[in-house]
Amino acid sequence: MTTDGRGDRTGELATALAAVRERIARAERAAGRRPGSVTLVVVTKDHPADDIRRLVDLGVTDVGESRQQQLRDKRADLGPELASRVRWHAIGRLQRNKARSVGELADVVHSVDDPRLVPLLAAGSSAVRDRLDCLVQVDLDLPPDPERGGADPAGVGPLADLVATTPGLALRGLMAVAPLGEDPGAAFARLAGLGDGVRARHPGATWLSAGMSGDLEPAIACGATHVRVGTAVLGSRPVAR
Ligand SMILES: *Cc1c(COP(=O)(O)O)cnc(C)c1O
Repeated sequence: MTTDGRGDRTGELATALAAVRERIARAERAAGRRPGSVTLVVVTKDHPADDIRRLVDLGVTDVGESRQQQLRDKRADLGPELASRVRWHAIGRLQRNKARSVGELADVVHSVDDPRLVPLLAAGSSAVRDRLDCLVQVDLDLPPDPERGGADPAGVGPLADLVATTPGLALRGLMAVAPLGEDPGAAFARLAGLGDGVRARHPGATWLSAGMSGDLEPAIACGATHVRVGTAVLGSRPVAR
């Protein structure tokens, strides 16, 4: 256990993590899904690298970051050996001037929502690995809201085709955030339908990244394979840097 003036932070994280794992297990059972079929991505954005160290000690393998700068700084803070034991998920809105770097730093990119990002991610990734796992982010707002990130559902097929045919990128599936003010179950059902359409053309695109602290149960009921959970594990975020 680590003590560094924050009390028993490891114990606090262990308790919260166990509760989230139990919620996931219960939702898997309720949906008749295989136990362990949902991957927990713990979203550590705005929390320190020390929390990632504690989470790794608690068995966390998948960590999500929103910003390129935090991804870069925390990877460096952990050092190459520990950083390589974590699968780093980039979940935030991608800026074109950071996309090449994110392609290099992340193992999975959830937020591909613009064809112009695709060659940049591929260029960054090809410097360091054979293949970068990518998800196309879908805007589930009705009507689509260009301010909120995610591709318009009408553009998802072509964007998925582009990712799938770009050397160095692997199309793994779709990602979305539930719209504000709508039943998340209804939105995630639309995502699952879009996922079926993409998978008919690209059989390897089996992942659905959906569900956060407040709505992981309806996401799992709709077939989420990856949930992205921050607050329910780490508590409320410190003021963003
Ligand atoms: C912050 C964030 C999450 C985690 O949200 P919580 O409500 O803290 O669980 C998940 N997905 C994305 C895209 C995020 O930006």
